[in-house]
Amino acid sequence: MSTTAVRTIRHRIGGQETTGQSTRTSVVWDPATGQQQAEVVLAEAADVDAAVSAARAAFPSWSETSITRRARIMFAFRNLIDQHMDDLARIVASEHGKVVEDAKGEIIRGMEVAEFACGIPQLLKGEYSDQISSDVDSFSFRQPLGVCAGITPFNFPVMVPLWMHPLAIATGNTFVLKPSERDPSASNFVAELWEQAGLPDGVFNVLHGDKVAVDAILDHPGISAISFVGSTPIAKYIHERGTATGKRVQALGGAKNHAIVLPDADLDFAADQLAAAGFGSAGQRCMAISIAVAVGEAADPLVAKLQERAGKIKVGPGLDPTSEMGPVVTPEARERVCGYIDRGVQSGASAVVDGRELQVDGDGFFVGPTLFDNVATDMDIYTDEIFGPVLGVVRVGTLDEAIDLINANSYANGTAIFTTNGSAARIFQRRIEVGMVGVNVPIPVPMAFHTFGGWKSSLFGERGVHGPDGVRFYTRGKVVTARWPEAAATYAAHLHFPTAN
Ligand code: NAD
Repeated sequence: MSTTAVRTIRHRIGGQETTGQSTRTSVVWDPATGQQQAEVVLAEAADVDAAVSAARAAFPSWSETSITRRARIMFAFRNLIDQHMDDLARIVASEHGKVVEDAKGEIIRGMEVAEFACGIPQLLKGEYSDQISSDVDSFSFRQPLGVCAGITPFNFPVMVPLWMHPLAIATGNTFVLKPSERDPSASNFVAELWEQAGLPDGVFNVLHGDKVAVDAILDHPGISAISFVGSTPIAKYIHERGTATGKRVQALGGAKNHAIVLPDADLDFAADQLAAAGFGSAGQRCMAISIAVAVGEAADPLVAKLQERAGKIKVGPGLDPTSEMGPVVTPEARERVCGYIDRGVQSGASAVVDGRELQVDGDGFFVGPTLFDNVATDMDIYTDEIFGPVLGVVRVGTLDEAIDLINANSYANGTAIFTTNGSAARIFQRRIEVGMVGVNVPIPVPMAFHTFGGWKSSLFGERGVHGPDGVRFYTRGKVVTARWPEAAATYAAHLHFPTAN
């Protein structure tokens, strides 16, 4: 009997590829064929220790490296991402399943964070107050924290880590990335780009693993801060356990994003945008629209237009340039999504387009675009984050009802409104209790120079990622008050609280 050897994906610690103490592995699928394409080693606590030791050893010298040199390495890193865009996109498409053009989109959005981080000399400028008292000046600046860790989800294997490590590293920290074990290869590729850019060994480390690695990261005394992106239950857990051991933690969770469509909207435009936002990347985006809230007479024509568009989407392998939508990531994901469609039908929603009926050659994890009409708020296709190509339509009578519906939801990542009425849009943007809001824009992901982050159970912790929050999250401020007399001078010391003189 012959066995085919599968590729093994290992950690990258201190510039070396290593299996370390890991004896367990996890399957990396090719979602388009349903075959195993690799195995990834899973870290034990000793491997976390090794990665943190490498990062700690690199910290003193990296944090003392001049800011201009750090910026130059960041420019080189950014250019290497751009040069290797196609290679990286193919790695993402082959392990995640999304189509190559979509993968390029995520790489570009991630690269923009590296571009933002190239401006680190400007971003880290402090403030200075001259002569706040006799011969006394005061100034503030920000310093790195130490070793920072990133724990990331499968759905954006390049972009989400890039939300974290360029800013952490530009601000002078060292970094341990624990990417998703479902599509781990892109992180090793990115580690090689950092090395080519001239980043010293140990500043950026990749550790593959599951809950064992995550728990060891949460408890490790050598880690100062944790950035997490993933599902809400895990985000909550990371925040609770990480802060309990004294770490700074930002934990971005799941989503159930609604888009309101008013009767005055351009319904063809809205349907095009909603089909793209609901079914792009097979719905595996934290900013995907999974619920369209159709107001009044918008509902019938909107459902008809969505049905037409959903039926035309070409589903196929991510590496096939003619595909518009790929498979979902694993067999378990396919089973979960189909289970939701089963229950949606059983609970009385109208399956206008049923993705379970899609046939694609081979054993890939394909589910077709699915459109439900007449979704009610007590159905689990409404309450749960499905994370698949399933778009539900809820019908309401007024804009007020639509806003109340969204505000009653525990998730609050993204939302959008489609309208030609500026006044309605303004009411919506002011009253809606959601962190990222689109007006005629279905996926309002903030640019790298703004901060990304939801509200409520979509974000645990004070700060979102990248933009101004990113710089603040990875640094702590210091204010110096210094007296340098111009000439020999005497100053009386009082026991009372000091005030300016
Ligand atoms: P996930 O929560 O299953 O996994 C995220 C990370 O946590 C992975 O690295 C995984 O190894 C680790 N993990 C999983 N289970 C764990 C456990 N029990 N204990 C400790 N660590 C554990 O998420 P996913 O399925 O990889 O990604 C999809 C989810 O991520 C969706 O909920 C999506 O909305 C969310 N997401 C949110 C954002 C955002 O910006 N808010 C962005 C992308 C994805």
